[in-house]
Amino acid sequence: MTPEIQQRVQQLRQKLQEASYAYYVLDNPVMEDAVYDRLYRELQELETQYPELVTSDSPTQRIGERPASRFNSVRHNIPLYSLENAFNIQELEDWEQGWQRQLKGDGEMGRWGDGEMGREGDKGDCSDSQLRTPLAQPALGAYSKLRTLYVCELKIDGSAIALTYENGTLVRGATRGDGVTGEDITQNVRTIRAIPLRLHLENPPPLVEVRGEAFLPLDVFSQINQERSQAGEQLFANPRNAAAGTLRQLDSRIVAQRRLDFFAYTLHVPGKEDIEVAKTQWESLEVLQSFGFRVNPNRKRCQSLQEVEEYYDDWNTGRLNLPYMTDGVVVKIDSLALQQQLGFTQKFPRWAVALKYPAEEAPTRVEHISVNVGRTGALTPLAHLQPVQLAGTTVQRATLHNSDRIAQLDIRIGDTVIVRKAGEIIPEVVRVLPELRPAKAQSFQMPSHCPVCQQPVVKPAGEAVTRCINASCPAILKAALVHWSGRDALDINGMGEKLVEQLVDKGVVTSVATLYDLTIDRLLTLERFGQKSAQKLVDAIAQSKNQPWARVLYGLGIRHVGSVNAQTLTEAFPSVDRLANASPAEIESVYGIGAEIAQAIARWFQVPSNQDLISRLQAAGLQLADLTPVDKQSAISSADSPLKGKTFVVTGTLPTLKRDEAKALIQQAGGKVTDSVSAKTDYLVVGADAGSKLKKAESLGVTQLSENELLALIKQIAVSAPETTTGARPLP
Ligand code: NAD
Repeated sequence: MTPEIQQRVQQLRQKLQEASYAYYVLDNPVMEDAVYDRLYRELQELETQYPELVTSDSPTQRIGERPASRFNSVRHNIPLYSLENAFNIQELEDWEQGWQRQLKGDGEMGRWGDGEMGREGDKGDCSDSQLRTPLAQPALGAYSKLRTLYVCELKIDGSAIALTYENGTLVRGATRGDGVTGEDITQNVRTIRAIPLRLHLENPPPLVEVRGEAFLPLDVFSQINQERSQAGEQLFANPRNAAAGTLRQLDSRIVAQRRLDFFAYTLHVPGKEDIEVAKTQWESLEVLQSFGFRVNPNRKRCQSLQEVEEYYDDWNTGRLNLPYMTDGVVVKIDSLALQQQLGFTQKFPRWAVALKYPAEEAPTRVEHISVNVGRTGALTPLAHLQPVQLAGTTVQRATLHNSDRIAQLDIRIGDTVIVRKAGEIIPEVVRVLPELRPAKAQSFQMPSHCPVCQQPVVKPAGEAVTRCINASCPAILKAALVHWSGRDALDINGMGEKLVEQLVDKGVVTSVATLYDLTIDRLLTLERFGQKSAQKLVDAIAQSKNQPWARVLYGLGIRHVGSVNAQTLTEAFPSVDRLANASPAEIESVYGIGAEIAQAIARWFQVPSNQDLISRLQAAGLQLADLTPVDKQSAISSADSPLKGKTFVVTGTLPTLKRDEAKALIQQAGGKVTDSVSAKTDYLVVGADAGSKLKKAESLGVTQLSENELLALIKQIAVSAPETTTGARPLP
């Protein structure tokens, strides 16, 4: 074992201990749960690999934290365990194999248990000696005879509490604390309406223990935070901490106002053996309901892991509509007899696992930093990371934006960093955990020369971005070509980064315009091109000439002109001439376009090489103008419109037109639009993600049109319309 590993283990332990204290005792977390989980897992793995490094105070050996002293301590009659996490389906499968192996008496469960089984009914004391008695030989196959294997429940993001009922009356409510000792919060628990003060039973057993989750509904959570913000108080980081903080309020009147809610999920009837009350977890939940508890209705019995996965997938989106927060699914073995056979590790039941939903943030380590040159010449530092699972994908690189950002983050090669990937956004490094910095971490300097063309770079005063200003830098041309060919721009199928690299490096393409001079013969001189692939590429390039003006404008890559702005601009300036001749003030007068964009556009059109590019694109036949309202009018007046009398259906998301706009255009041009596909449908105008209408049209052999083909059809009419419509300009 190297000193680096020893140092890492110590650093992780200290960081996790601090986080755990802030989280459990102060209700004020200092890191995201997902980050905690990953660091915890790293420590766990290092301790498994180097058992000599395990210490009894390691966070891996403890549940939660010792309770704060504000409340009286109570020792739980039955310890409250945490749950082992699985972060993906593979880990869920490993867990299943683990408990099945354990039942067969094959020993180790791997991560899923410490290889030492708890004995039947291991409850009442958390001491190691009791928890580590080997399992009496179970009847293998018992579980396979059971019809239902698992119960899936939503993992409610709240705070676990233990309730004790004596002769049917609530006598105690306690927090989980460290699993053995919690805090007596009975007064506060009494304010929760979903918790019965008396069980709905005529002859209640002398002792009933119920466990469940106290939580704050999302609307109450945001209301509390609003109030705290108005009062200048620190905000709660999430509903879970808000619930834990509320439960530990000294003033029960405040707790009552906060409308905590509760779902019950575990029932123990000590002395009687749970099995007499219910034989399965599913039945337990029903019994809890009949006792007067709120039980989460979104539960499911599953007969296989496949069904568990379906439940997990369904709730991945379904949970976003729930009025409370969930962070995963709890999978429990249904049979209580089997649960007893499997028992517990020191921290977890072996018969349950929490399958967490993918996180959008995670810690990982920076292996090195490279610099990328974009189409505007901007140098962007990129962190190369140890691969990490984030929001369902593996992330290996993250943008560091610019040198100012690097300085602000104080990021060094070797650092542990938090990366985030929210929605479609490119992963970025949000912060560094300097406490986990290795001794050999290296700082990073932006290069003084472009890493591609080796020319000096500039960083104008007051700007964050370092740029290569060499107009013939191959990196700039490559990035411009990739952007031009992208799906939102000219959408040239097959023009990926690799091909662009080859075309530029071989000098075959020297500007965006020269793409349109490419011939099959020229392509055949390049590696990896055959007749068929060359033909395909030339066709795809030719096809891009039909893309509307808005996409061409976006493809030009003018600073600040994204696809939405391009659409707005082309509506106001329906041809390149109109836009090129507009003053910045005119451009800025368009709703949604600001001064910076207007300046950038005006400047762009003043550059001679850009003017030359426009002329060449025009000569190549690209669409540098759109149908004007006048054109559309002429389409309507066209008596011999090929759309006349034809029935259209529009489906899917069209690249530039809204569906209603497409419908209006068709109707104006004399066509009829219906909602459903039938044998009478002449054309299906189809966009992305089309569903059943497309299938039906295919089965009926209905002709399909892309948006471009539809526009081309309408444009034909516009161009051939009689001169009576003043101002109908010929298309360039
Ligand atoms: P946990 O939250 O991962 O899972 C166990 C808990 O799930 C149970 O105690 C119970 O309260 C809850 N639960 C919700 N629905 C349930 C259901 N239907 N059935 C059974 N239990 C259900 O484990 P934990 O021990 O409470 O907390 C550990 C977690 O806390 C870590 O994984 C981490 O995410 C978080 N944590 C975060 C920090 C931080 O700094 N952000 C620090 C410490 C712990």
